[in-house]
Amino acid sequence: MIDLVKTYLENDRVQLFQIPSLGDNYIYLIAEDQKGIAIDAGDSEEILPILIRENITLQVILSTHHHMDHTAGNCLLKEKTGCQVYGPDDQRIPCLGKKLKEGPQQVGPYQVEVISTPGHTCPHYVYYVPKWKILFSGDTLFSGGCGRLFEGSPEEMVTSLDKITKLPKETKIYCGHEYSIKNVEFALSLEPSNIAIQIRLQKLLNLRSNDKPGTPSLLSEELETNPFLRLNSPELLKALNLEGATPLEVFICLRKMKDIF
Ligand SMILES: [Zn+2]
Repeated sequence: MIDLVKTYLENDRVQLFQIPSLGDNYIYLIAEDQKGIAIDAGDSEEILPILIRENITLQVILSTHHHMDHTAGNCLLKEKTGCQVYGPDDQRIPCLGKKLKEGPQQVGPYQVEVISTPGHTCPHYVYYVPKWKILFSGDTLFSGGCGRLFEGSPEEMVTSLDKITKLPKETKIYCGHEYSIKNVEFALSLEPSNIAIQIRLQKLLNLRSNDKPGTPSLLSEELETNPFLRLNSPELLKALNLEGATPLEVFICLRKMKDIF
């Protein structure tokens, strides 16, 4: 079990609901003055009661990618609330209304930076809100790991992850699944003496034993502990016996190891 978490982004008028769904998914809902933007509405039954209880009118659903565990609630929510569905140009996203282009976009009252991150799926978008320095990273970047490659190439995923590393280091990353502990256990298996990874695993075990989510994390924390963002790290390359390898070669090796971890 993971608790639903409500935090304030700016003041008590702007709330972020972090809604556990379908076992290990997260749905996010930003609400300001009773108007809401949802990110990855995988299950309408998890969101509707919150909209009703908190008297929130859903305006927009932002979809990161087409997978059903991120989009299955789109059509029912659109029907019940009249909201619009925004996302990448992909006909597999149910009830998609507005096809977004990469770059700055207006989403409801917010300026959102749309970043194209193919790899897990093609297309896949992540959404950065500069105002609060928060990133909704879908299934591209996870807390401690990254998404599996179902449709894209390792080259595409390395480029996609690289784009995320250019965001401010204090960016809070809200990802699409709760895989934190397994991911950080994998990182620690590669570098057992890395103290930052040891500390992170301990912190996550404490959070999860109290039913708290392992996301968000800070980008700075990911850069220190997430092997998929450390393709140039001399310590990691040494641990993998891959000194002199290119970032792409390191990524391919890591992804293969993680897929069977
Ligand atoms: Zn997915």
